[in-house]
Amino acid sequence: MPIATVNPATGETVRTFEPLDDRSIEECLARAESAFRSYRATDFDSRAALLASAADLLEAEQDQVARIMTTEMGKTLSAARAEAAKCVKAMRWYAANAEHLLADEHPAAADVEDSGARHAYVRYRPLGVVLAVMPWNFPLWQVIRFAAPALMAGNTALLKHASNVPQTALYLGDLFRRAGFPAGCFQTLLVGSGAIEKILRDPRVAAATLTGSEGAGRAVAAVAGDEVKKTVLELGGSDPFVVMPSAAAELDHAVATAVTARVQNNGQSCIAAKRFIVHEDVYDDFAARFSRAMAALAVGDPADADTDVGPLSTEQGRADLEELVEDALSQGAVALCGGRRPDGLPGGWYYEPTVLAGVTDRMRIHREEAFGPVATLYRVPDLDAAIALANDTPFGLSSNVWTRDEDEQRRFAGDLAAGGVYFNGMTASHPAMPFGGVKRSGYGRELSGHGIREFCNVTTVWYG
Ligand code: NDP
Repeated sequence: MPIATVNPATGETVRTFEPLDDRSIEECLARAESAFRSYRATDFDSRAALLASAADLLEAEQDQVARIMTTEMGKTLSAARAEAAKCVKAMRWYAANAEHLLADEHPAAADVEDSGARHAYVRYRPLGVVLAVMPWNFPLWQVIRFAAPALMAGNTALLKHASNVPQTALYLGDLFRRAGFPAGCFQTLLVGSGAIEKILRDPRVAAATLTGSEGAGRAVAAVAGDEVKKTVLELGGSDPFVVMPSAAAELDHAVATAVTARVQNNGQSCIAAKRFIVHEDVYDDFAARFSRAMAALAVGDPADADTDVGPLSTEQGRADLEELVEDALSQGAVALCGGRRPDGLPGGWYYEPTVLAGVTDRMRIHREEAFGPVATLYRVPDLDAAIALANDTPFGLSSNVWTRDEDEQRRFAGDLAAGGVYFNGMTASHPAMPFGGVKRSGYGRELSGHGIREFCNVTTVWYG
C-alpha cells in the first residue's frame, strides 16, 4: 500500500510520500533508545508540563488538524473537530492523574512481615521504547490514547501509522516536538507494514501496541511472541445493541442512539453498534423507526456541515462492505433501507446507510465485522435468546443494552462476553474508564489506570 493522502470524497491522490530507508529507521531507533535513558528519570511534573503543552497546541490547532483528517480519511469535519477535542481532554486527564495512578503500592504490613522483609513496596517503572501500529479510523485519537499514558509513564514511542493518513502521522510527530518533548521521545516512522517485523525484533524495542484488524494484530503479536515482548491488541468488534420491552417508553431515544451508534465515523468504528437485537414485543416498532431514521441521513461531502455520513475511507473498504451485503442479500436477507451506493455522488467511496433484516448464521455478515454504515437486525423471543445471540460472535469488544429492568441488567452485566456493557446509552470511551475487549477483539486495556500500567515494569522492591 503506497504511503499517500488520497481524498475518499473524490478518489483524488493529493500527496504521496517516500517511506523511510533503513538508515533513517536505524537513526530513529537509536534516538528512541537514547531518549529513553534520560527521559525515564524525569519526574511526573515535568512530563505533565510537556503533555499539557502538547494539549494546548492541539486545542489551538483543532480546525487545522480536523481538515487534514477529513481530507485523508473522510470523516465529517464536525466529527474530526470532536476527535481533536477528545484528545485534548485525554492528554490533560493523564497529565493530571498519572502520578497517583502510578504511585507506589504498599502491601499490608502483616504480609510484608510474613515475606521476611523489613519494608517492601511495588513500583511502576517504564518499560522502554514502545512501537505503536495504528489505524486510520480515528487517526488522532487512537494514537493519543496510547501516547498520553505511555509518555506519562516515562516510555518513549515510535508510531507506525496507517499508510493512508501520513499527514496526520507527521502532524503528531511535530506536535510532540513543538511541545518540547526531548528529541526521540515520540517519533513518526513513515513505513509500510512490511518494515514492522524488523523494527519489532530490534532489541531496542521493548513492546508493541496495535489497533486494527485481526490479521494485522495476529501478525504483530506473532512476532512479539517470538521475541517475548509485551503487546496490547485492540482489534475489531461487532457490538450488540439489545432493546428489551422495558425500553418501550423511550424508544425514540433508543432509535436516535442506535443510529448514532451505527453510523458514527461513517460506520467505521470498532465500538460501533453493528448487530441490533430486539425483543419481539418492540421489534416491529423499532425496525420501522430505525430504518426510517437511517434512510433519512444525509450522505455527502464530509466537509459540508449538513452531511451526516461521509464516504468510506478506502475504495477497498467499500468493496469489502459491498461484498458482505451482497452475500447476505443473495441468501435471503432483506434491505429495509440502503443496500447500494447512493446516486449522484460519483468519484467518492460512498455507501448508503443500510438496515438488513432476516440475517442468519450462514451469512458472512453474521460473524464478520461490517466496517461501514450497515446494521443487521434480529428478532428475539426473550432475554436468554438475546444474551445467546449477543455472544454469538467471534468478537467481544463492547455491548449496549436498553432495559430499565434491574434483574435484566444484572443478567446482561454478568453474562455478556465483552469488555464493556453500556445500559441505556451507547459505548463511548472516557479517559477514566478502561477500554478493550475479549475473544477476537484483542487483549489488554487502554485508558484509565489499567491502560497506563500496561507498559510498565511492575517492580517488587524488598528490603531484608
Ligand atoms: P489494518 O489492520 O490492515 O491496518 C491497521 C494498521 O496495521 C495499519 O497501520 C497497517 O499498516 C498495519 N498493518 C497491517 N497489516 C500489518 C502487518 N501484517 N504487520 C504490521 N502492521 C500491519 O486495517 P485495514 O485498514 O486494512 O482495515 C481492514 C479491517 O480492519 C477493517 O475493515 C476493520 O474490520 C478492521 N479495522 C479495525 C479497526 C479498529 O478500530 N479496531 C481500525 C481499522 C480497521 P498499513 O496501513 O501500512 O497497511
